Order: sequence, then structure tokens, then C-alpha cells
Amino acid sequence: MDVMSFLYDALDSDNLYELADHLESLIKHLKSVENKVKIIDECYSLLSDECFYEGEAAGHFIKIFSVKDSIPEFLYNHWTFSDTAEENFVKLESIVHKIRNYMIAPKAPRISDRTICDLVDLVERKFQYGTKVLKEHPVKILKINQTYKGWGCYYIAGTSNGEIAKDAIIMTCPNNPEAPQEFGFMHELGHRLHTSLTYQTFVPPASFACFREYLPEPIQDNRSMSEHFANFFAIAALNNSPYEHCILHKVSTEDIAVFEKYMSITIATMDENVIHTIDELHNKAKYLGINL
Ligand SMILES: [Zn+2]
Repeated sequence: MDVMSFLYDALDSDNLYELADHLESLIKHLKSVENKVKIIDECYSLLSDECFYEGEAAGHFIKIFSVKDSIPEFLYNHWTFSDTAEENFVKLESIVHKIRNYMIAPKAPRISDRTICDLVDLVERKFQYGTKVLKEHPVKILKINQTYKGWGCYYIAGTSNGEIAKDAIIMTCPNNPEAPQEFGFMHELGHRLHTSLTYQTFVPPASFACFREYLPEPIQDNRSMSEHFANFFAIAALNNSPYEHCILHKVSTEDIAVFEKYMSITIATMDENVIHTIDELHNKAKYLGINL
């Protein structure tokens, strides 16, 4: 069997478990061929072409993929391509491991497409989120029919040379049927926002440091700060909306008002400056007539 046939079989999988099986065969085959680097490169190029999305031209803010169409996208977005065969094998094996160990039978129904569109409309009306954040690069939404151990959805991005090369929100079936997925989805849009600002997946903008005082304990590392950024965005986005009851955290009205102002300024001025230091944020607040 030709190596590309293994890849086509993988891309044609009906679900993630099938993908894992086909990937395992593909990896085994790739390990046995000569000029591995060249052939792996060809595989990744073919996959990139398969997943090319001209969303910019369509003027859409998001693209929701069916469960079947999410399979090639899942592989593409999780595969951090490397120049060495060995690193690519490690990456591909980690995808197989993730599927087999973390994707379990669905525990509750996934959020509907209609609700996702509703939430994107909501942040467009409130912050011009679509126009400002997603305008040149719509986010892909992948629907997965399994439950991901731990949480209901996650954001994944590949950044290079000061831009988001690829990204997706992976919407799985929730682990906890009680936990509102609307909050989870908004949280992921929060991750997309800070990635659009810093071009690094788990790094919030410098201005977010001014929110340290709002956190229950002193936190310094970017990864944790980016999780708080995403939560603050979700709270600000859902406040005063039909989805307000989905806010997972107890936050005072005054604090929510500050989060909303911060997110409004950050998004409104994101074209002018991608660094967003605290001083600049205060200047902008003054310029916009907002007390921060
Ligand atoms: Zn998160």
C-alpha cells in the first residue's frame, strides 16, 4: 500500500477512534520508508491543502465543521509540524495517545450550531469581536462526538512569524451535563482574543497584569493568567445577555463592569497596538472617556 493511501484512510475516518487506528498504521509505515523527512513533508502538505480555508473571502467569522469533516481538521490543528522525522513521530503518536486516553464515550449532548452562532452574534454586537478579532482569520469550530476528559471544549492554535497560522475550537460533548457550555465556548473565544493580541497561545497581553488584584491568589505565570483572561472575557461577554445565567463565577456587578470596559477597550484598539501595556490602556481609557 502506498503511504498516501494510509493518510487518505486516516482523513476519511468517521470518528476519532478510527483516526487513531489509521494514524498508527501511517506512523508504522512512515517509520519503515526511506527519505522519511521528504515523505512526511508531503503528507503534511497534502493535509494543509485539504484544510485550506478561504474564510476571509467568504466574510465569515467562524466555520463550523460536521463531525466527519472535523477529522482532517483535528489532525491538522493538533499536528505541530517539525523539520525532523523523529519530532513528527512524537507529535503524531501524542495525537493517537490523546484520542485513546482522553476521548471517551459521550456523556451529554454537545452545544448546538444555533447556540454557537448566537454567541458569536452576541460578541459581535457587544464588542465587534467578529469584525475586529476574527475578520482576517475566521476560527474553525470542530464538532467531536466524544467527551474529552476534564472539560468540554478547548482552543488550539499554531502561531508563527507574528501570525496565527491555524487555530480551532474543539467542541466535544461535555463531561458534566450541568456545566453550561455557553460559558466554555466564550472562554475559548477569550483564548482566541489574547492569541490574536500576542501571537502566543497561552500569553495574555501585558495590560492584563492590572487584573492581578482581582485574582484570589498572586499568579505570575502566563498560562494561568491566560486562563483568567479567558474567564474574564466570558464573564464580560455573557453579562447582561440571555445567557447571563451561564456565568460560572460569582463576580460583583462592579467587577463585571470593569472587565467589560477592559475587553471593550482592548478589542476597540487592537489594530493600533498589539502589545497593550498598562500605561497605554489607561491612555486609551482616557481617550475613550472611560474611567478604569
Ligand atoms: Zn482555557
